[in-house]
Amino acid sequence: MIASIASAYAPAIHFGDLSMSYVLQRTSRIVPPTVVAGRGCWLTDAEGKTYLDASGGAAVSCIGHGDTRVIDAIIRQAGKVEYAHNSFFTSEPAEKLAELLISRSPSELTKVYFVSDGSEAVESALKLARQYYVERGETGRRIAISRRQSYHGNTLGALAIGGNMARRVDYAPLLMEVEHVSPCFDYRERPADETPAEYVERLAAELEQTITRVGAESVLCFVAETVVGATAGAVPPTEGYFRRIRDICDRHDILLILDEVMCGTGRTGTFHAFEQEGIVPDILTNAKGLGGGYMPIGAVYLSDRVDQTIAKGSGAFKHGHTYNGHAIACAAALEVQTIIAGDALVERAHAQGQVLSRLLRERFGRHPHVGDIRGRGLIQSIELVADRETAAPFDLKLGLAAAIKSEAMRRGLCVYPGSGTIDGVRGDHVLLAPPFIVSDKEMTLAVERLGDAVDSCIDRTRIQ
Ligand code: PMP
Repeated sequence: MIASIASAYAPAIHFGDLSMSYVLQRTSRIVPPTVVAGRGCWLTDAEGKTYLDASGGAAVSCIGHGDTRVIDAIIRQAGKVEYAHNSFFTSEPAEKLAELLISRSPSELTKVYFVSDGSEAVESALKLARQYYVERGETGRRIAISRRQSYHGNTLGALAIGGNMARRVDYAPLLMEVEHVSPCFDYRERPADETPAEYVERLAAELEQTITRVGAESVLCFVAETVVGATAGAVPPTEGYFRRIRDICDRHDILLILDEVMCGTGRTGTFHAFEQEGIVPDILTNAKGLGGGYMPIGAVYLSDRVDQTIAKGSGAFKHGHTYNGHAIACAAALEVQTIIAGDALVERAHAQGQVLSRLLRERFGRHPHVGDIRGRGLIQSIELVADRETAAPFDLKLGLAAAIKSEAMRRGLCVYPGSGTIDGVRGDHVLLAPPFIVSDKEMTLAVERLGDAVDSCIDRTRIQ
C-alpha cells in the first residue's frame, strides 16, 4: 500500500510543539518553524537555520527581504499619519502610488482602487463589473465565465470563479453561479496532432458556445489569470489566445478581467503580464508584488470605460472596506515600486528568468519524472510525472508535492509546490518565484537543492 511520503518526512524536520501554539496554523498537524529574520533572498528561523527563499513566499517578495529603503519609508509615513478613512481623506502615498502605477500602464487604464490583498482585489473587480452593467441598465448581467485550473482567491466571490475544484467543493453550496471553461494549458490539454493555432481556435469556440448557451445579456465578465499561478503551476498562455479572448469579449460586450495578483508588477518580465499578449483588460487585479510583502496591499485598475460609466452614472462605486488605501501600506508599496522602477528590476526579472529557465532545463530537461518545465520571467515551474512518455501523474496518495516542500525546507530551500495540477486532484508541480534581485549563484543553489529534494522524494516512492 502507498503511504504518504509527506508524513514520512515530517519527523526529520524540526517543527514546534503543537500544544504551544494558539495560532490556527495552515494544518493542525504541524507548527512551522518560526521565522525571525529576512535579508535579500534569505530567511532565518529561530534555530538559526537559513532558507533560500526561491518562491518569494507565494510569489510575493520581489525586491527581497529587509530592504531598509522600504523600512524607512514605512517609518516616515507612520510618523506623519498612519491611517485616515478614505471617505474623509485621500493621502499623499495613495495618490503618488496610483500615479506611478498608471504611468506604467497603457492609456486605457486610468484609475486605481487600493485594497488589502488579492482576494479583496478580485471581489472588488467582480463588483465593479456588476455595477458597470447595472449603471447601463443591464441588470440581468450576473454570470461570470472563468476557467478550470485557475485560482482567484478564497473569499466567496473569488472562490466561486476559481477553477480549483478541490478548494471549492466543500463551499459549493455557498457560491454564486459561474460558468467554467477549459484552461489554456498547452502541456496537458493540447494533443500532439493539434497546432497551437488550432488549439486557440478550439478554446475560442468553447467560449463562444458558452456565451451563446448562457446568453450574452446574462454574462458579467470573463476572468482569467494571464499566467496561471498556484493551481496549475506557472502556465503561460498559448500564442494568440488572449487576442482571441479579447476579440470575443468585445463582440459580445463582455468585460475582460485579468487577474495578475501573482504574475503582475514585473514578475513575468514586463510590468503587466498582459503586455506580452498584445491586449489590455477592462479591469486588472494586482497584489502580491505590489507591496512585495512589506505591507498587505492589492490594487484594482479600472479602464476609462468602466470608470466613466460609474462616474457619470451613480457617481460612486458601491463598495468599500475600512482599510482601502491604507496610508502606510501605500507608502510601503510606493517605495517598493519606486525601487522596482529605479533599479530596473522588471528588466532584471526578465534576464534572471532566462537564467532560471536554463538552469531548470539543464537539471530537469532529461529527468525521467519531470514532464514539463514552463513559465515566464521569474515565475517558473516543473511538473512531475510518474511516466514521461504518457505524462501520467504520480499516485495522489503519495502526497509528492507536499513531500518535496518538506524535503526542500529540510535542505534550506523554500519552494511553492502544488498538487491537483491537472484537474484539482491529480498531478504535482513545484513553483519557483524568487525575488527579482536573485543572483545567478542563488538560482544555481536553488535548482541544486530542488533537484536533490525531488530525487530524494521520488526514490522514497520506489522504496514503498
Ligand atoms: N488571484 C491570484 C491569481 C492569486 O494567485 C491569489 C493568491 N495566490 C489570489 C488571487 C488571492 O490573493 P490573496 O491570497 O492575497 O487573497
